[in-house]
Amino acid sequence: MRKHIVLKSLLLVSLAAGLSGCQSQAGSSKQTASTQKTTQTKTKRQRLIAALPKGVKSTDTNLLVVNKWHKRGEMTFEKGSVNGIAVRKSIQQPLTTFVDAAKKAGYPATVVSGYRSVAYQQQVWDQSIQSYENQGKSAKQALKLTKEFVAVPRGSEHQTGLAADVMYTKWYNAHGNQLLSSSDKSKGQRWLINHAADYGFVLRFPKSGADSTGIEYESWHFRYVGKKNAAFMTKHNLTLEQYVSLLKAREQAAK
Ligand SMILES: [Zn+2]
Repeated sequence: MRKHIVLKSLLLVSLAAGLSGCQSQAGSSKQTASTQKTTQTKTKRQRLIAALPKGVKSTDTNLLVVNKWHKRGEMTFEKGSVNGIAVRKSIQQPLTTFVDAAKKAGYPATVVSGYRSVAYQQQVWDQSIQSYENQGKSAKQALKLTKEFVAVPRGSEHQTGLAADVMYTKWYNAHGNQLLSSSDKSKGQRWLINHAADYGFVLRFPKSGADSTGIEYESWHFRYVGKKNAAFMTKHNLTLEQYVSLLKAREQAAK
């Protein structure tokens, strides 16, 4: 009698195991898929790290990251100028060459803005909030809108002197001298975007880059990073933040 009960319960156990086996199998195949995905992502990152240009360090001045998460105080460095716009002396030549090449290609460009001090950025910030409030927006709305389009003071890379807002002049003049993403509909702005890397620049805030940069798409903001870095970043569609993160991972692994 007792044996019978044991057998019965064994049967129940195995039935239950069979059922749960099904479930766990489904669960494990799901898990395998997600593990595979993680492995693939990891592999892609590992592949990128392995392919990084030699001799580049995350701490190189050209790769200085300033954003809303990495704020910096006022910086001092030698300044130069391009078409009357102040920039870091080290990018005067590359930026001049870039703009000259655009002109030669039939797309004269305007350097709208280059180096901006933290103090000036604060002014831009305050003015933006003020102008939204003047349009009848609440203080909260004005702050939200300003955050979308204006870099927070101490968090703008214009203070590094390594960035420049460059616009295809014809489009810029025809649109009330505004910096608008839709400028990329013009051939001239597209020329600038497509050739920037040849001169050591990248479009700093690309489409779908906002998660890592904190700034929405800007078709006019170019950042000098040097030719080698620009070529790699452009080829692999990496933001500066993502690129520097890969470099840091390589440096970490080498320790
Ligand atoms: Zn800019």
